[in-house]
Parts: sequence; structure tokens; C-alpha cells
Amino acid sequence: MTAENELNELRGIAERVGANDHIDVGSIIRDIVDEKWVNPTGAYNIALKERLTALSVSDNWAEAKLEWKATGEVWYVPMRESADDILPAIHQEKHPHECVCGHKIAWHFEIINTENNIREIVGSEHIGFWMVARHLLADLNIPADMITQERVKVWIKESVKTMKAEWWWSRWGEQFEEWFNAVKETDLRVNVRDGESYWDSDTNRYEHQQLVRKKAVSKMGEPDYAMASIVWRWNHPNNSRRQIETRGYPNERLWNDLQMFYILSQRWKDEIAAEDAETARRIEQLAEQERIAEERRERQRIENEERRQRDRERREQRQIEEAELEGVREERRLAAVIADRINAANSNETFKDMCEYYDVPMFTPNIATKDWDKRFLTDMIRQMSSGKQLSPRQLSFLRNIVVDEPLPATDKQIWYIKKLAGDDYVIPDGLNRTDASSLIDQLKRTGGLIE
Ligand SMILES: [Zn+2]
Repeated sequence: MTAENELNELRGIAERVGANDHIDVGSIIRDIVDEKWVNPTGAYNIALKERLTALSVSDNWAEAKLEWKATGEVWYVPMRESADDILPAIHQEKHPHECVCGHKIAWHFEIINTENNIREIVGSEHIGFWMVARHLLADLNIPADMITQERVKVWIKESVKTMKAEWWWSRWGEQFEEWFNAVKETDLRVNVRDGESYWDSDTNRYEHQQLVRKKAVSKMGEPDYAMASIVWRWNHPNNSRRQIETRGYPNERLWNDLQMFYILSQRWKDEIAAEDAETARRIEQLAEQERIAEERRERQRIENEERRQRDRERREQRQIEEAELEGVREERRLAAVIADRINAANSNETFKDMCEYYDVPMFTPNIATKDWDKRFLTDMIRQMSSGKQLSPRQLSFLRNIVVDEPLPATDKQIWYIKKLAGDDYVIPDGLNRTDASSLIDQLKRTGGLIE
């Protein structure tokens, strides 16, 4: 017997959630199975009731139905395929492809009568709320107060989803994996859209960010059709609705797109290769330009260094030349000084000779007292030092200053003497002014007679 407290608990759940005996999840199934769905008539429900009661311990349907529990096992068997490889032997022998009510099904939910351990198969429309609730409670340890109609539906949907996915993968999985892996990289290069542009320092130009294309452009078959990214739809980590998790297998659209993209993938790969080659060529050219520029800079640097070196050398050379020139100047200066001294010595010798010649002692301008005389003597020293002859007049003045020799008689004295003594009178040689004056006095006294 089913434990009394367990049954009470189930009754409590049913009361709380207002559950009916059966869960209608037919809409899930209708989209999936390839079978004409005839609207269930009362006949199927009656058949279910009669057959399950017959298999139960109790004869009363109200009690009997509570003896059954879902096991958690579900098998998907497409209508036209053999159940042999899918269903366990115990079910193969009974009614594959059918609910216990006789209705055609693809989804085989296993139930067990916990009183007599009989196992049966029902479709998703005839799996009872009780059956699922007991499974969740007993097998999955879900607390009773968390069991709701919604949770039961979710369990059925999940079971169906898992099974459909498993069935799909058994059929197409290998093909899908092969094609998906073959195109996933290409997909992320091709099924993209241009984002913001940015400066790319590698290519040295503005490039567009490539964003994964999340929505298709236009319709399939149209010339401008651009599919949404296959990777995005299937398993992109940023996609919270990626099909690998929401469905477990690709939807029809994704599967079709993958096949089409796979067929065209070589063309896409060629285009990508050409694009990559262009980028690589460009980067190479930029590197080459940079290398040439670097060479030019290096050459410039060397030239500058050489020019600086030449400038330094020129400056040094100039300093050397200037130093040498200073030496030469100094030598010349010294030579000039020596020459001056020699000249001075020579002129001194000449001056001495001239003094002897004119019979005057050697003199300096300082022996004169009057300025005029000092200047005159200076002139005479210069003239005599250079060996130049003196005029008689210069000599008279010189002797007058240096040796106090009286000056010669003036022309007026000579004229007066001749007037007094007569034109025949011969003026004595070297008559000076003093003598001339005495002579004039004597002639005046004697009336012109020379004494
Ligand atoms: Zn049924």
C-alpha cells in the first residue's frame, strides 16, 4: 500500500495547487512529433482509466491512479522509426509508439505502479499530475510545498527537451559538430557587422570594430541576406539565450544556415585570406617604411655627428693657427724692438759723428731754456741722427745755442758797413753781429776810416 501520510501529502498538494488529474502539455508535443494529431476524444481518457485500473491493485480509479508514479525515464521514438534500439525490452514487447490508452505517441514517459511494480508507458498528455508530483517528491527530493503545476510542467518540458536533443544529436550530431567546427572561426569573421571605427596602430589607419551579427539582415533567399552569427546563436558565451542551453540542439533556422554557410565556407575563407594578406602586406610595407625612416634618421645622426666632429677639428685648427700667429706676431714684435734698438744705436752713432763734424758737443734739447730753442734742438737731433746735412743758417743757430757763438752779421749791418766804408771795402769772413756792431761804431767815429 502507498503510505497513508504520503497520500495525504499528495492530496494536500493537489488541493493547494488546484491540480487536475492530468497535465495538458500537448502543445509542446504537437510541434515536435511528425504525426497527425487527432483531438483527443473522451475515448482515450476512458481507455486510460480502464487499462490503468486493470493494472492496479485497487479496482477503484480514484485510488488506483494514486498507485502510479513517474520514474523519470523518457524515450523519444520518432513515429516512423523502430523503437527496438530505443525502448527497453519490457516496453518493446507491449505497445511501442503508443500510450497505454492506445494513442500514438513519440514521447514515452515511463510510469510505475508502486504497489505491484508494474511498469507502463504513457504519452505526455496522459502523464498524471500525481505521477509527476510523486516523482519530484520521492525521487528528486523536492519539498512538497514547492511542487506546483508549473513545476510539473517544467519537468515534463525539460524531459522532452532533453530527449528531443538526444534524439536530434543521435541523428545529426556528428554532422553538426563537424560542420560547426569547420566554420566557427570563419563565422566570427564573416557574420559580423561594422561597429565604431578606431585608429589601428598596426595598419596605421581607421578600422571598424567587428561586432558579432546577432540578427539576420533581410530574408533567406534575398540577395542581401546576411545570416546572424552561427556561433552567436549556438554557443556564444555572451548570449544568454544560446541554443545549446535553451534547447540543447539547434533550431531549424540555425541548422539550415549552418549547412548553407558550410557549403559557401571555402569562398568565405578565400575572401578572409585575401583580406588578411592585404593587411599583412600593409603592415609589412609600414614596417619597411619605418625601417627606411630609421635608416635615414641613423644616417642623419651620423652626418650630424661627423659635422660636429669636423666643426670641432676646425675650431681646434683655428685655435692652433691663432696661437701660432700670436707667436709670429710676438716674434715680429720682438724683431721690431730689436730693430728699433739697433736703429737707435745706429742713429746715436751718426749723431755723434755729425756733432764731431760740425764741431759741437753732443747735446740734448734740455740744454735750451726757451721753448722755441728746445723744439729747434729736437729737430736738429732728428736730422743729424739720420745723417742729413744742416744748412749754414741752421748751423749758426745751433752753434749760437749750444756753444754761445755769436750769430753772423745781418744783411742790414753789412749794408751799413759798406755805406760807411765804401763799396770797395771787403767784409771780413765770418763777421758776426757783435763784431759788425763794433765795426759800425768805429766807422761812424772815424768818418769811414778803417783803423
Ligand atoms: Zn494516452
